[in-house]
Amino acid sequence: MKQPLYQPRIVSELLKRHSFVIKKSLGQNFLVDGHILDSIVDAALEGAPSQGTKIAIEIGPGIGTLTQALVKGGFDRVITIEKDKRLQPLLQETLGDYEEVDIRFEDALQFDFEHLFSQLPKDATICFAANLPYYITTPLIMHVVEYRLPFSRIVVMVQKEVAERMVARPGGKDYGALSVAVQYYCQAKIVTVVPGTCFMPKPDVESAVISLERIDHGFDCDQVAFFRVVRGAFAKRRKTLENTLAMEFGLAKPVVRTWLQTAGIDGMRRGETLSLQEFALLSKHFEQFVS
Ligand code: SAM
Repeated sequence: MKQPLYQPRIVSELLKRHSFVIKKSLGQNFLVDGHILDSIVDAALEGAPSQGTKIAIEIGPGIGTLTQALVKGGFDRVITIEKDKRLQPLLQETLGDYEEVDIRFEDALQFDFEHLFSQLPKDATICFAANLPYYITTPLIMHVVEYRLPFSRIVVMVQKEVAERMVARPGGKDYGALSVAVQYYCQAKIVTVVPGTCFMPKPDVESAVISLERIDHGFDCDQVAFFRVVRGAFAKRRKTLENTLAMEFGLAKPVVRTWLQTAGIDGMRRGETLSLQEFALLSKHFEQFVS
């Protein structure tokens, strides 16, 4: 089907013709705004070389709206993973004519991304793009970044509050373990905020498109130690770093003080004020002080 799928009239007609009943539990809110689709596609293509193969991995095509926009926007191949097999005939109608599209009916949370990446050309630019069902946002993003898959960026629609937590800077109320985890692997930015009216049916919450560009900070510390320190530091948000670390790691206060001094960090601060670089400094000396 070559006509744009984002028009509300077309979405209603397709759903009706296929007697498709929307499942709220699968986050089936379909995009009906062409500008938002363009901003997802443009953000996914940001920084991609004009020559060379561009591959998008999409989670949850729904009726194929974003899939179609990704092909039209210039991706040579779109591999799309949909959990709901009831969408098979509908997707056959909407995407059957696109030879660039490869649809896999699987649960993205169980999907073997490592195997998929091993089959893709090593020199391709690979992006994740999705209007994500909100219940899988955090597990899916964390899985993709932690496995250090060779993607260039992830551009996804998520709940606005989650987007704000992912891009939050030290000291703010939204800054927490999720912000540090995402920013450890990626440069995070909000592309655009999306009102509920851009979806059919309209969700109860506001959304945002977020872009996560893969980066390597090159921190001189062990990754396991880094995340143990982060979890420890955020465990008691109201307490000072000195108290929190002593409690979380069962250390005497003088030991924690020496640890903090070695890293050049004031123990009277709270964990939520530490930058990623400061977490890395603390982690560098982790083994020395925590058994
Ligand atoms: N991409 C379409 C759009 O933008 O209009 C649909 C997005 S809709 C918010 C989310 C889609 O993800 C639905 O098609 C839903 O069936 C699918 N989905 C839900 N859970 C999934 C999972 N675990 N794995 C793969 N797809 C899933």
